[in-house]
Amino acid sequence: MLGFFPTLYPGELLYSGIARYQIRSGNLSPKANIEELFNSRNITATADLPCGLDNLVQNLPTYSSATADSLIQKHTLYPFYAPFLPPKRAKRVQESMKSTKGGNIHTTAGVMASAIFAPQYFRFCPECLQKDLDKHGETYWHRLHQIQGVIFCPVHKITLQNSQIPIQGFNKHQYEAATESNCQTGDLKLNYSQTAIKQLINLAQDIAQLLENTYTSRTLEWFTKRYQTLLIERGYANVSGRVKQEKLIDDFLYFYDAEFLEIIDSTVAYKDRSNWLSQITRKHRKVFHPIRHLLMIRFLTDSRS
Ligand SMILES: [Zn+2]
Repeated sequence: MLGFFPTLYPGELLYSGIARYQIRSGNLSPKANIEELFNSRNITATADLPCGLDNLVQNLPTYSSATADSLIQKHTLYPFYAPFLPPKRAKRVQESMKSTKGGNIHTTAGVMASAIFAPQYFRFCPECLQKDLDKHGETYWHRLHQIQGVIFCPVHKITLQNSQIPIQGFNKHQYEAATESNCQTGDLKLNYSQTAIKQLINLAQDIAQLLENTYTSRTLEWFTKRYQTLLIERGYANVSGRVKQEKLIDDFLYFYDAEFLEIIDSTVAYKDRSNWLSQITRKHRKVFHPIRHLLMIRFLTDSRS
């Protein structure tokens, strides 16, 4: 059992807590640390969907009330993916995260098949960082800031900055903590239009909602039906469910700023009949990326058409 383990801050990635542990424990090698935490030398330092959590929880000091489930829900990116995975698949992701064999977690969660870019570096919000320092005397990696599509901090409404720490490090067993020296605010100023910025902030708020709540996982059929009902209600499909694709694309591209869609890799091409928007309105045969669902949900429940 470990003599101590840092209490995780609200919204802190488990990865970040382990990095803070490594600094304080003063252990010599990253591999020795991994073995101490997970009883295995094969665990890799993973930011989004880590594994080995059952062993880690057993090794935590007796004062810790953390369970594998609470870590998964509050300190990993699982709640970003889970609502859009069929229940059995979500369960498989959870089980892999608890076991020390996490080899296929990302494929099961649909992360690998995604057409949406993944951030290369851990990111931070300069104002959140200052707040952390004032409140806790140190900073940490916020899980919300590491998610694809979160370009603005939804609290401070400013652009996130890249830290100097790559998400896939050179040493796969090394956990790097967020510090003032590796989180330096550069002159990253993005010249986005006001509309794009507003929509990026909305998206970041929607993603924050996903993380802060426990939504039920739903089957592919459930999403097919739900969207069909909304499309009919909104006049984008006739009663038999036939979708008016041109009207849908027209209104979607009116509702969302073109620059915004480009930034989050979700442009819809008119001529391409197999564009993602058309696909998501048909029978779901595969899992769609959470960002695509969020765009769809906001469009179908917010639009005033
Ligand atoms: Zn912030």
